[in-house]
Amino acid sequence: MARALYPGTFDPITNGHLDIIHRASQLFEAVDVVIAVNVRKASLFSVEERVEMARECTRNLPNVEVLSHAGLMVDCLRKRNAQVLLRGLRAVSDFEYEFQMALMNKKLDARCETMYLMPSEKYTYLASSLVRELAALGGDISEFVPSGVEVRLRDRLKETGNG
Ligand code: ADP
Repeated sequence: MARALYPGTFDPITNGHLDIIHRASQLFEAVDVVIAVNVRKASLFSVEERVEMARECTRNLPNVEVLSHAGLMVDCLRKRNAQVLLRGLRAVSDFEYEFQMALMNKKLDARCETMYLMPSEKYTYLASSLVRELAALGGDISEFVPSGVEVRLRDRLKETGNG
C-alpha cells in the first residue's frame, strides 16, 4: 500500500476520471488527484475551479485529496512522499504518449513508478475535450460528468458565448 498521485489537466473532471479515482482509492492507502498547472495549454476552467470541481466530486472518498502543482510531477511525488504516478489508459492511442512520459519521469527520478488503470469500458471513449465540444454543440453531457460539473460547464459556455 502506498500513496499514488493521479496527475492530469481535468478540464473538467469527467466520470471517466472518477472511475479511475474510485478504483485507485481501493488499491492505495492514499490518492492525490493533482491538477497540473500548464501555462502552455489553454484551459476552459482555471486551476482553482478545476480543484474545486474535483473536490466536490471526491468528497465521499476519505483517502482522496485534491491539489494543484506547477512544475515537474516527479517533484510533486517527492514533496508528497509518494511512490506511484497513476494514469488512465483508454485505448492504444493513449499508449505512445504515456510510454514517453513514463520513461521521461523514470529518467528524472529512478524511483518514480507509473501505473495504469483501465476504466470501465463505458468510459473508454470519454475525454474532457470531447465533453467540452459536445456541450458547446448543445449535446446532452449528463451521462459523462457529475451534475455539478454539468452546471458549471453550461454556465461557462454561456459566458463565453458558446452555450
Ligand atoms: P492530461 O492532459 O494529463 O492527459 P487529462 O485530464 O486529459 O490530463 O487526463 C488525466 C489522466 O486521466 C490521463 O492519464 C488520461 O489518460 C486519463 N483519462 C482521461 N479520461 C479518461 C477516461 N475516460 N477513462 C480513463 N482514463 C481517463
